[in-house]
Amino acid sequence: MDDGVEKFDLVIAGGGIVGATLACLLDGLDLRVALVERRLPDEGELPFRGSGLRFDARVSALNEASRQVLGEVGVWNGVRAVRCCDYREMRVWDAEGTGSIHFSAAALGAESLGTIVENSVVLAGLYERLRGQGNLTVVSPFTSAALENDGGGTTLVGDCGRRLRASLLVGADGGNSAVRRLAGMSNRERDYGQEAVVATVKTERSHEHTAWQRFLETGPLAFLPLAAAGDGGFRHSSIVWSTRPDEAEDLVQMPDGRFCARLAAAIEHRLGAVEWSDRRFRFPLRQRHANHYVKDNIVLAGDAAHTIHPLAGQGVNLGIRDVAVLAEELRNGLGAGRRLHDPVVLRRYERRRKGDNLGMMWTMGGLHRLFGPQPLPLRWLRNTGLGFVDRASPLKNFLARRAMGQHGRA
Ligand SMILES: Cc1cc2nc3c(=O)[nH]c(=O)nc-3n(C[C@H](O)[C@H](O)[C@H](O)COP(=O)(O)OP(=O)(O)OC[C@H]3O[C@@H](n4cnc5c(N)ncnc54)[C@H](O)[C@@H]3O)c2cc1C
Repeated sequence: MDDGVEKFDLVIAGGGIVGATLACLLDGLDLRVALVERRLPDEGELPFRGSGLRFDARVSALNEASRQVLGEVGVWNGVRAVRCCDYREMRVWDAEGTGSIHFSAAALGAESLGTIVENSVVLAGLYERLRGQGNLTVVSPFTSAALENDGGGTTLVGDCGRRLRASLLVGADGGNSAVRRLAGMSNRERDYGQEAVVATVKTERSHEHTAWQRFLETGPLAFLPLAAAGDGGFRHSSIVWSTRPDEAEDLVQMPDGRFCARLAAAIEHRLGAVEWSDRRFRFPLRQRHANHYVKDNIVLAGDAAHTIHPLAGQGVNLGIRDVAVLAEELRNGLGAGRRLHDPVVLRRYERRRKGDNLGMMWTMGGLHRLFGPQPLPLRWLRNTGLGFVDRASPLKNFLARRAMGQHGRA
């Protein structure tokens, strides 16, 4: 550092699951890397470190492909050792009729369909792993506030006044990406007209290592199974209830007892009564897709490039796949003597990821519309369709394998 500017080869803006995974994937490369994060949680804030039984309200359903990437960077075993829950079955049904579909890991010759993990458990594992990484500097707290591009590189300026210069800047700073905005990268955006209410709940009966999802007229309600609690039972689930904003506000504000009764009825008492609910949070749901993932020497990945409806729990899986491909292309490019920000290398990343991300986004958009309020003939059709897919094993298996990430390269 001379002129007050800290110099790196690559700066990753955003230290969420996607940004931190990329930092791990760049280990061993002859690059000076900085990982910039607005705020890292204090140890005391991590729910799994506390003595009382608390779960993080934010969880992710990690598919096999994501688990593999986390395994390759040496994080997955540590995550498993803390706590997580494999789900072996998935039951989806329509509140407006009789249509239902049942996925089972056994039918696919797999041990599980996916694993539900608290985001804070994954992040703690990633940062533990990054602690000893020689080519990495973690810069936090740091809030990206401005970008300066001088042709040869980009300088990311924090609101604290720190200046970080890099040949390549990766924006992995989430759906409201500051990098995307500051770089003037355009974005297509659509409001789903829904908010997601998330909370940890305890039910009367075991979740049976099953992910449950019921499509209500106002949106899908999912129960995602959590690890065994101190009492030895598998009775904690993380719920994601997508609904109209006015109902979401109501669900967050109402007394716990009323909420538990309403939730149990909404899932048709499949897990018996809901006995307890932790604090409830709500998130607006928007579909976003950056028109380009690359501009000069700036690249977007994860939610900064695309956000989708959480109904199939695929957001973070797509982001992990983005950075696995990006790291592979950078590695190949450097091996072939290309510069880090070579447009050929960056465009290859964009080409490889755009189709997959758009495909998933359209599928989620279609499901969201199909299961929204529909006239009677369409409701009949979707019920018949669900039943058809449930009986058509090859089609059902194809859908399940896609959700598990068993397609494409990377
Ligand atoms: C209710 C809900 C449920 C979901 N459930 C699932 C699921 O089951 N499975 C799944 O795969 N996905 C799920 N998702 C989606 C998933 O949470 C996201 O896709 C995932 O978190 C994206 O990771 P990311 O690292 O790209 O972004 P983020 O997790 O948003 O991380 C971005 C990071 O950048 C930092 N940052 C932001 N702005 C700045 C700035 N200006 N300066 C510095 N740092 C900054 C933030 O502090 C944050 O740490 C769900 C989403 C929602 C809303």
